[in-house]
Amino acid sequence: MSRNGYYGPYGGMFIPEILYPAFHELQATFTEIQQDAVFWQSYQESLANFSGRPTPLTYAARLTEYFGGPRIYLKREDLNHSGAHKLNNALGQAMLAKRMKKTRIIAETGAGQHGVATAIVAAKFGLHVTVYMGSEDIERQYANVFWMKRFGAEVIPVEAGSRTLKDAINEALRDWASNFETTHYVLGTASGPHPFPALVAFFQSIIGKEAREQILQLEGKLPKRVYACVGGGSNALGVFQAFMPDEAVELIGIEAGGEGPTTGKHAARLAYGQGRIGIAQGYKSFFLQNEDGQMVDTYSIAAGLDYTGVSPVLAHLAEQGRVRIEAATNEEVLQALQLVMVREGIVPALESAHAFAGAFREIQQCSQNDCVIINLSGRGDKDIFTIAEGLGDEGWKAFIQRKNTQYQHACSGDSGKA
Ligand SMILES: *Cc1c(COP(=O)(O)O)cnc(C)c1O
Repeated sequence: MSRNGYYGPYGGMFIPEILYPAFHELQATFTEIQQDAVFWQSYQESLANFSGRPTPLTYAARLTEYFGGPRIYLKREDLNHSGAHKLNNALGQAMLAKRMKKTRIIAETGAGQHGVATAIVAAKFGLHVTVYMGSEDIERQYANVFWMKRFGAEVIPVEAGSRTLKDAINEALRDWASNFETTHYVLGTASGPHPFPALVAFFQSIIGKEAREQILQLEGKLPKRVYACVGGGSNALGVFQAFMPDEAVELIGIEAGGEGPTTGKHAARLAYGQGRIGIAQGYKSFFLQNEDGQMVDTYSIAAGLDYTGVSPVLAHLAEQGRVRIEAATNEEVLQALQLVMVREGIVPALESAHAFAGAFREIQQCSQNDCVIINLSGRGDKDIFTIAEGLGDEGWKAFIQRKNTQYQHACSGDSGKA
């Protein structure tokens, strides 16, 4: 990881002057903890006790049999507390906040997963917590808003712009500018201004550290390939970093192909060659933008991949050819998800199902003597409505109708049982 915050031409720290002290303090503390083995040790212990780490590396026997190719292993980030890799970063940054003697943390959230993880660690460490979320996203993802509030978070709706993730990030930065003496900003993915890409990748590196050790123990050799889905880039960098020096290990990131490359309805900033270099939200990278440089609305069946920018670290690794970036469409993703469920008894998150779809498509390229790792970034319980709709489940409509009726009865003071 670079020290000055640049990865080739990407990255940097494009922030208003008023935020300089906050970023300098954060950078200094980050440098400190990177050299402090005791910090990493207590981070690991905290995750072991609270989140069940290390997560297993599961041999997917029936998927392997189905394809008749390489042995397939799944890194089980879905088994983390709160169901995804996001807690690794939120917990690490809460410990960092404590070390900097902050009493409050703030976060942006899009789909709400990072907001929930941040609310959880705030409750665990006794910190005040405010989460910024676009009002459009609040409506789309209310279940997560509900959980954040129950964990004691203040959720502030953002009405600016398209009322989604990028607007929430701007609002969180504004809050930080006026409150950094008491407040740490827990950014949720490996993008944003320096040092966030490096900081988030640092905490998520625990995924790859474990996976590398586990595969060596189970197989006695390194995997031929490692697959991960790419939203902002944190779970991908989390699993990739440990394998980066092993040049024979191919690293493949899968972006959200949405409805496909010609539809404009996707979030593939790199794979479709449609993202353009720009500076937004404090960093330089590839963004999906129009001719005038305005960010365009992205679309994916997976809310967590639905973002206009991508980690500057990944942009650079892709350009260097160290990481290959592909995309999977919504349709491929639903098929892959269904296959994983019936062959392995596991529900991947729609985000993670992109990694499966990308891997399945080209799995025949590897031989039976190879093994591959797919990073299962999270579990799919949260996606129940979207999966049901995507797969066109009929019984589901009746179920929803019944719930609506019950709700209307409850609102009118009727028990609904008559
Ligand atoms: C948020 C999320 C992602 C995408 O974020 P990255 O920073 O790219 O990892 C992927 N999978 C799951 C389950 C998520 O919740």
